[in-house]
Amino acid sequence: MSRSGASLEAILAATAGIRGRSGDRNYALEGATRSFAFESSRFTRIAAAYLARTISNDKIVKILKKLAESGMIEAESFASSSANELIDLLAEAKLALAIPAAKMLVTLAVWYVGLCENHPNAIEETSTDRLRESLIAIKGLGAATADAILLFGVDRPAYPVDRSTWRVFIRHGYLDSSVDYDEARSTIESLAPDDPARLAALSITLEAIGREFCKPAVAACEACPLAPLLPERGPYEIDT
Ligand code: SF4
Repeated sequence: MSRSGASLEAILAATAGIRGRSGDRNYALEGATRSFAFESSRFTRIAAAYLARTISNDKIVKILKKLAESGMIEAESFASSSANELIDLLAEAKLALAIPAAKMLVTLAVWYVGLCENHPNAIEETSTDRLRESLIAIKGLGAATADAILLFGVDRPAYPVDRSTWRVFIRHGYLDSSVDYDEARSTIESLAPDDPARLAALSITLEAIGREFCKPAVAACEACPLAPLLPERGPYEIDT
């Protein structure tokens, strides 16, 4: 069961200070429309969205810059490389990339090239649901990562429901503990159905809130900027 009552405006207003401190990830607020400080491509942004699930933004920028300097700008270059070639290339700049991440970059490039092969505008013209389905069909790519790629890499109004968002929404009573991933995602997406930038702002904000205040075992509500939005009775328990 999903509950209601969440106000995106109220959450973003209460947490403006958090986003001010998250400057190193503010590129994501503009979704796929923002370019890096070097030549980039749509696939570069998809790669960044994937890498951001596990790697700091500073390191992502260094990795993508090194790849761009080596001619690895377009998806075709990634798709015709091996994971080991990517790893060796990055090692020249003393940058480490785990083999599973390198393999997934190549797989995503193959996905992208396949999608656009006979239809250069395939990304723009394919619905968000169909893009999500095709991403989730990639072995090893979870639903939240697919939605992160859609939101931050393709500028679609998709929401990657991570554990931080889950905890905040359940403790505030905006979601019931029994909802599944897709129900939680669609409830959150309905807060800004046509506005990927605001969903990106929410995602970045709640990630920071979860890391600093709304931790799995302890909710440090006294210090949290979202405390004014708590129910009168205090935070709901999270069923485990
Ligand atoms: S006020 Fe408490 S329950 Fe709400 S997000 Fe902050 S730490 Fe979590």
